[in-house]
Order: sequence, then C-alpha cells, then structure tokens
Amino acid sequence: GLSDKLSAVFKKMRGKGKLKEADIKEAMREVRMALLEADVNYKVAKEFVAKVTERAVGDEVLESLTPAQQVIKIVNDELTSLMGETGARINFSSKPPTIVMMCGLQGSGKTTHSAKLALHFKNQGKRPLLVACDVYRPAAIDQLKVVGAKVNVPVFEMGQANPVEIAKKAVSHAKDYGNDLVILDTAGRLHIDQVLIEELQNIKAQVSPQEILLVIDSMIGQDAVNVASSFNEALGIDGVILTKLDGDTRGGAALSVRAVTGKPIKFVGMGEKLEDLEPFYPDRMASRILGMGDVLTLIEKAQTELDEKQALEMAQKMKQNSFDFNDMLSQMQQLKKMGPLSSVLGMIPGVAGKLKEEDAEQGEKQLQQVEAIIQSMTAAEREKPSLINPSRKRRIAAGSGTRVEDVNRLIRQHEQMQKMFRQMSGGSKKGKRRKMPF
Ligand code: GDP
Ligand code: MG
Repeated sequence: GLSDKLSAVFKKMRGKGKLKEADIKEAMREVRMALLEADVNYKVAKEFVAKVTERAVGDEVLESLTPAQQVIKIVNDELTSLMGETGARINFSSKPPTIVMMCGLQGSGKTTHSAKLALHFKNQGKRPLLVACDVYRPAAIDQLKVVGAKVNVPVFEMGQANPVEIAKKAVSHAKDYGNDLVILDTAGRLHIDQVLIEELQNIKAQVSPQEILLVIDSMIGQDAVNVASSFNEALGIDGVILTKLDGDTRGGAALSVRAVTGKPIKFVGMGEKLEDLEPFYPDRMASRILGMGDVLTLIEKAQTELDEKQALEMAQKMKQNSFDFNDMLSQMQQLKKMGPLSSVLGMIPGVAGKLKEEDAEQGEKQLQQVEAIIQSMTAAEREKPSLINPSRKRRIAAGSGTRVEDVNRLIRQHEQMQKMFRQMSGGSKKGKRRKMPF
C-alpha cells in the first residue's frame, strides 16, 4: 500500500550523507560478499567489484548530494550491463523450420523447457513440433509425450532409434506437416561426458540447428560456470535457459554464465508448470542477485554523515503528531526525484524480484492521484486535516479530478500513518525504546 511506499521513502531519506573513499571500499567489500553468497563465480565477482569501485570513487559519486543512491545505481547498472541485453531472443530461420536444440545435464529441465518453449511460441502463432531425442530411458519419451499433450503440441518419436536419425527424420516430418519450429529434446547425463558431447555434436552437424540452447539449473550454483563453458566449447551454444529460479537461489549463476561464455540468457524457468517461462530481464536479475535490500543496508552502514537535522525534524513532527499533508506531499516529491517508482521499489527488501511492472505502474498512478488531491487542498486544510468536511471533500475531489472516495481514502491513510508514527515514536507500550525507521 501507499504507506509502505512512503516508509520506504523515509528509509531512503537517510541516504544523504557524504561518502568517503574508504566508505565506498568498505561497501564494495560487502557487495563482493553478497555476490559470492549468491553463487557468483569468484573471478567474476572480483572483476565486477573492481570495475564498480573505479567508477564509484570518481567525482561523480563523492561530489554528489546523494552518494549512496549513486553507488547503488552504479552497482545496479554495471550488474545489469554485465548480464547483457534485454531482448536476446530465438533467431528464427528465414527458411522454416527453425530448429532449436536443447542441451544440458540430466535434471536441468530440458524436457520441461522444451514444452514450455513450444507453448510460448505456439501462443505467438508458431506451429512447433517436439522431438524425443532422449532415447536412453523409455520414461523420457513418455515424459515428453505427457508435456506435449498438456500444451497440445505434437511429439515426434521413433522409440529408441539413433537420436541423430530421429532428428533428421523429425525435420523432414516438420517440412511435410508445416511445423515451422522443431524443438529437439536431447539426452543429458549427470556429468558432462564425451559420449554425450559427441552425440550432440553429431546432431548439430546433421541438422544445423539455428539455436543451441543450454539449459542450466540455477540451483547448481558455482558449478554452472564449468557446465556452461564445457558445453559452449564443445557445441558453441547460442543462449541459455536458466531454470528453477522459483526456488530460493539468488541467481548468481546467471551472472557467471554470461560473463564466462559471453552468451545471453534468453529465458528463465520460474516453476514446474508449463506456463512458468519468462524472457530474461537483466535488471530484475541484478536486483535479485544483490538482494537490493541488503545492499541498501550496507551502503547505509557505510555512510559517515547522516542528515540528522532533517531526521530530528521529522521525528519531532511525529512526536507532536503534526505530520500533515504538507509533509506527505514533500515526501512524495522526494520520491519522484529518485526516479521511476519501479526502480525505487526494486531496492526495497522483499520487493526486489517480486515487483511486477504493472504494480509499479499502478503505484505511479496512485502517487499522482495523491499528489493531485493534496495540491487541491488549501494551506489550512493541509495543516489541519480535521477541517476537511464533506463539502470541502467535494471541492477537493472536483479540483483534483478524483472522487470523494479517493479523498476519503487518502485522509484515512494519513490517519493511519499518524497512528503508526505515534506508536513508533513512543506512544505504544513497548515503543519507548523502539528505533525510528529512519
Ligand atoms: P531434464 O532431465 O533436463 O529433461 O529435466 P526435466 O525437464 O525432466 O526436469 C527435471 C525436474 O525439474 C522435473 O521434476 C521438473 O518438473 C523440474 N523442473 C524443471 N524446470 C523447473 C523450474 O523452472 N522450476 C521448478 N521448480 N522445477 C522445474
Ligand atoms: Mg529430459
């Protein structure tokens, strides 16, 4: 709700002190720890931090009025750019069918993601064909048939025949039946071995796939680097699908894989259901890897000077119960200065990663509405909300292009905030010793 958003603003208001070079270095050490904890490869983390430090100790941060925000922004920017471009998608052949070969270790999610891709592209008007090239376990063929049926996409299989032959036949079948997308579900092993690699190389040589997609389980953490570089060296992959991101992994594998192979992550798997496939967004992954909340805290810790005057002033207002609509408006204007709501919210613990674009848009609209309502109040009304009687409410609603319900809701929210502040500033039984949120 709105009050959550505003409390985040208060929290962010602390980020005003000046930073010294040593503070930044200290903060960067913690960023590196955060990266390692998120399973980012050691070398990748080290290089990354060096790059960010170089930028952060420059004038652009130290001279800035909001150094902490600057540092966060640099970390986020660099991480995002390291993970590559948004919109790395499947290359479709100008001469259908387009052939996509899935590869990866056993259990990484190849079969599941073959079906997810089929569904994804079927919804975009393609006519996919799923191909059972994992012939070593009969159950694997059945599994593909089951998921194929679920997404209503045909499955081509020839039992336990030679996978290279199956792939070739499947392509000519696709041509005959008008399937413009052929997805080859191949076998995996628990570990990379030469037999598997040779089989995949043979399929590649025989059918020349447009896309070789490496499927990587994000839960394997640091191992992702070895897996990705081995497959890439042997096959020359075109992209990566990172799976099982619905788990509690922080996704550091994404960063390492991209840095080590130079190949883009094209999709991420967010669950066992066949709809749970998303295009890859580097910025979301950046927030996830850093758990922006943590980074915020550590940057706050690194701050030497706090704008105590402002904090005291606000604390005083709360104690006196005089946080009025003028204060609320100035908080909101602060919030707007910090950039688009989506990026601001992405920095809040618990929000990062979960934030949907629609939510941010919705929030942005709400903020605009609130601002309009407050601006339609007279000075006296802003200072003393109790003045706002029904006829004033009607006037304010008309003036701000909103409804009386909207005005009522804002007044209620303001009351709730005051109540909350009273409790935080010592009004509640155990509140005396409780810390201010900012
Ligand atoms: P394959 O051996 O590479 O073909 O892997 P499968 O597609 O059979 O997947 C292995 C297991 O991981 C299955 O139980 C899947 O349901 C599960 N799985 C695959 N992708 C995801 C995902 O994105 N999230 C979750 N939670 N489970 C997944
Ligand atoms: Mg499989």
